[in-house]
Amino acid sequence: MLRSHTCGELRLTDTNLEVTLAGWVQRVRNKGGLIWVDLRDRYGVTQLIFEEGSTDKALLEKAASLGREFVIQTKGKVIERTSKNDKIPTGAIEIKAESLEILNASKVPPFIIEDETDGGDELRMKYRYLDLRRNIVREKLQLRHRMMQETRKYMDAQNFIEVETPVLIKSTPEGARDFVVPSRVNPGEFYALPQSPQTFKQLLMVSGFDRYFQIVKCFRDEDLRADRQPEFTQIDCEMSFVTQEDILNTFEGLVRHLFTNVKEVQLEEVQRMTFADAMKYYGNDKPDLRFDMKFAELNAEAQGKGFPIFDQAELVIGISATGAGEYTRKQIDALTEWVKRPQIGAKGLVYVKCNEDGTYKSSVDKFYSQEDLKAWAEKTGAKAGDLILVLSGDAKSTRKQMSELRLKMGEDLGLRDRNVFKPLWVMDFPLLEWDEETQRFHAMHHPFTSPKKEDIPLLETDPGAVRANAYDLVINGVEIGGGSIRIHDRPTQQLMFKHLGFTEEEAQKQFGFLMEAFEYGAPPHGGIAFGFDRFCAIFGGSDSIRDYIAFPKNNSGRDVMIDSPSTIADEQLKELSIQVALKKV
Ligand code: ASP
Repeated sequence: MLRSHTCGELRLTDTNLEVTLAGWVQRVRNKGGLIWVDLRDRYGVTQLIFEEGSTDKALLEKAASLGREFVIQTKGKVIERTSKNDKIPTGAIEIKAESLEILNASKVPPFIIEDETDGGDELRMKYRYLDLRRNIVREKLQLRHRMMQETRKYMDAQNFIEVETPVLIKSTPEGARDFVVPSRVNPGEFYALPQSPQTFKQLLMVSGFDRYFQIVKCFRDEDLRADRQPEFTQIDCEMSFVTQEDILNTFEGLVRHLFTNVKEVQLEEVQRMTFADAMKYYGNDKPDLRFDMKFAELNAEAQGKGFPIFDQAELVIGISATGAGEYTRKQIDALTEWVKRPQIGAKGLVYVKCNEDGTYKSSVDKFYSQEDLKAWAEKTGAKAGDLILVLSGDAKSTRKQMSELRLKMGEDLGLRDRNVFKPLWVMDFPLLEWDEETQRFHAMHHPFTSPKKEDIPLLETDPGAVRANAYDLVINGVEIGGGSIRIHDRPTQQLMFKHLGFTEEEAQKQFGFLMEAFEYGAPPHGGIAFGFDRFCAIFGGSDSIRDYIAFPKNNSGRDVMIDSPSTIADEQLKELSIQVALKKV
């Protein structure tokens, strides 16, 4: 070993020990006859001291020549520091250096490699390998590592078998575009990268594997956001001979295990809510339950009093923002402008201030009496000192707008505490979702999700009303996982494809293998997949999953470090029988 200890290890009790350390020069402080070097590795920082007199001249000069990020090895003795630094674990000691070897010099790094850095996002991504030297970045990946290990521990203890499934496959319909890979040996044919291992894990159930999991890369060609990357990781799971209840309990167990063992948080009970209620009360299929502000539908109270906007609305919704009754005119105007932005799209915002003296002051006083407003307060649960905010319009948009406003108010009022965790199962999702663009139904989860038995007759009469045996795990407004009980017989699977607009031939061509497998004794089965990167981000208290990925891509799907995607040589294209003819779009 080139070192006897790490840079995070030595303490006062090690005084007088002769040690050899190796690492990176974080900082050099040169006071003439006295040079301090902060030596860093993955484990911490240890201070080295080179002192005139006790250190020979050549050594002192060598120390003076060190630059940031030089890789060095030093031998010396552990001594007690005169001025201690209680901010770091090694802060009571320093190493009185007796030798110094430069293992590798470094160019001046493009940004300062410390917690506080001068490097912007783009630069840090270009030199991600340097960014990863920073504690705060490395710690995030260590958290990810811990979560991975604890996941494997739990799953193994529950008798799950980790099986790897192929990456070069054909399309899996998870609702996104596929990334495709041309096949050289089959000219003109393409593999697709898995959007998830969905069909494989179901086939493993047919194989009798019974309990499968895999921590696996998935690929989806979608527009990117803070919580989306073109390649991301799932904890993918499937079980046979189970009911929905068994799955919820098993994976609540996993979530609890991770919270206890990684985050040291004792998770409270995981609440449950139907999709229909989530939409009705929060306007959102992934409600953030860290705060209340439940929607109150005010049609009965607000219509028929001569206020045309409410009278014409399909839905009038109010929420009570606790303690916001003191909002100034200016603040309310700003909120109104906020909801009117095109991204939200509301036409206006009605407010009612609940005064401390029990009276109400609203922007629609002309139409509503104090009694009327009192009824709104009762329905929204508003008390003196609160602010009622009301939106109206068609039901779908109003719910969506109110959901955004609710989240904003939660944020503004400091109610979205990153150290509070409110997990929730959202259940009974609709099986199908109408797509305006293509004018047909799509599977809301995926085509392998089973409808609720009692709703199957509705497939013919009212497909949009059919509920699925599907569930999502939501934590703090973030969808962490989702799954379903699957269809496991050919006729039902065929029926499903029919309702999704597949012809029999198309269904056979794309998913014939699965339907055939269902004819060889497929057990009832179901499963779930967790978005592992998102899970890590929630644990780390961050909105961006990028921080938890060693080498992420930017907003345009580029890896700016290795400069990918990139063109390929004509020779390669030829081998693949591919001609590139770019059309301007
Ligand atoms: N394959 C699904 C997904 O990626 C999860 C599941 O149904 O198990 O969302």
